[in-house]
Amino acid sequence: MSFKTDIEIAREAKKKPIQEIGEKLGIPTEHLLPYGHDKAKVSQEFIESIKNNRKGKLILVTAINPTPAGEGKTTTTVGLADGMNRIGKKAAICIREASLGPCFGMKGGAAGGGYAQVVPMEEMNLHFTGDFHAITSAHNLLSAMIDNHIYWGNELGIDERRVTWKRVLDMNDRALRDTVTSLGGVANGFPRQTGFDITVASEVMAILCLSNNLEDLQERLGNIIVAYTRKREPIYCRDIKADGAMTVLLKDAMQPNLVQTLENNPAFVHGGPFANIAHGCNSVIATNTALRLADYVVTEAGFGADLGAEKFMNIKCRKANLSPDVVVIVATVRAMKMNGGVARKDLGPENVQAVIDGCPNLGRHIGNMKSFGVPVVVAINHFVTDTDAEIQAVQEYVASQGSEAILSRHWELGGEGAEHLAERVVEIADSGISQFAPLYVDDLPLFEKIERIAHSIYRASEVIADKKVRDQLRAWEEAGYGHLPICMAKTQYSFSTDPNLRGAPTGHTIPIREVRLSAGAGFIVVVCGDIMTMPGLPSRPAAEGIGLNDDGEVEGLF
Ligand code: ADP
Ligand code: MG
Repeated sequence: MSFKTDIEIAREAKKKPIQEIGEKLGIPTEHLLPYGHDKAKVSQEFIESIKNNRKGKLILVTAINPTPAGEGKTTTTVGLADGMNRIGKKAAICIREASLGPCFGMKGGAAGGGYAQVVPMEEMNLHFTGDFHAITSAHNLLSAMIDNHIYWGNELGIDERRVTWKRVLDMNDRALRDTVTSLGGVANGFPRQTGFDITVASEVMAILCLSNNLEDLQERLGNIIVAYTRKREPIYCRDIKADGAMTVLLKDAMQPNLVQTLENNPAFVHGGPFANIAHGCNSVIATNTALRLADYVVTEAGFGADLGAEKFMNIKCRKANLSPDVVVIVATVRAMKMNGGVARKDLGPENVQAVIDGCPNLGRHIGNMKSFGVPVVVAINHFVTDTDAEIQAVQEYVASQGSEAILSRHWELGGEGAEHLAERVVEIADSGISQFAPLYVDDLPLFEKIERIAHSIYRASEVIADKKVRDQLRAWEEAGYGHLPICMAKTQYSFSTDPNLRGAPTGHTIPIREVRLSAGAGFIVVVCGDIMTMPGLPSRPAAEGIGLNDDGEVEGLF
């Protein structure tokens, strides 16, 4: 059997003009701001005008701990929504925008795969509607204004050694991780050591994704802490007076982007914060807009359910007053085998025992998601190499956990392959049995919030932090930040902090290396292990193979 590549399938898409896609959701053409023929932004006025519409049902797609075998969250998100539309439901998708930098490093887009894709995929993975460029500009405007403030006399008394605000670029460029600015003499300012992060790691990205509207955006931008004085007093973005101009730069980027699936169903693709030092899901404004226009909204959170879904629930849902009706956990036979100890090169042949051995990882995620009060369905994202016996092993295991696993063939067949999954998800969503509650209340002390996550979600026995970390958390509580939720930054590959510890470990310890306050976005980042905020390129970057063919089409991007 031979299969078409994602890009070949995407190129054959019979796209409809974006106005027709908007019409499906009742968006009048004058409120759809076209970016070419197949992309549009939805106007702020329209979003304002629908804010009292009845809200549709919210479905979160998450996954087991990822393995290099791939799980297919985005692919399943797209397939499920197409399946829902096929059975006559009004469903829309909400996913993240892709970062441009990594596309030139490793192959792999962020628009789904097979016959479950969002188009135009090339543009979505490159410049798209310019949102990330706007975020880069807004971020760097603040950086420039901080150095300018110091240059012109430093009225605020910024300690140049304690400027925490770096610069950003949407590029994988390890050479910029640590830099020295203002070299070259008196006219260029005061030299200081700083560095660059990739744009998706910017706090501005997290803020854009969590803001309800433009006023909220400006308020949050103003709250960013950019530096400290010699007395360790914080200096805010609003002290630098950059929040107004940054909001101007972000005004269009705040409007959600509408595109379509291969089956011409509406997809909102908006925002793309990192899933480690930020919360890793699409914008609140896109999710809320979709919920006011569609009866069912299918959305995705980054990484596995222990990180992505936990943050979706405890950060995004808490802040935006959202309440998921169903959680879909994506599992694959291949990933179950890897969790069961099979090496990547040996994934081909049937191995039912390895599937069974890997299932406790899935079981842990099912239990965790249920603990939020939300009903769970497992979607087995079908690979053509899966055998019936392997699939049955997953289904039996899931049944033993009091849930059900539904085989879905959307990658191969599009929405048609996901109809059965769609029917069950709709049934459960409509039953109204979800009783969502976040894992912890706002006024639990910060360290106890971390312990709550470590115990309930990771099943760790203890959280280890030295005095410096504990003192810092206490100082933030005294400064009025104690009500903030926690944003965990740890490996996505395991429930523990050891990426090689697969399955469902218990009794491990969670060491906290560092804590960071994102005062604008409104969370406290707890760093457990290495986190990379400026990736590098591999020895053979994908960029070497990217170019235009004789027909002017992009080759080598995927
Ligand atoms: P995630 O959102 O979990 O990171 P994606 O949905 O983006 O994963 O899928 C990752 C890659 O795996 C994509 O290139 C996609 O084409 C591929 N893929 C997903 N599902 C399948 C499947 N059922 N069969 C073959 N390839 C798949
Ligand atoms: Mg994805």
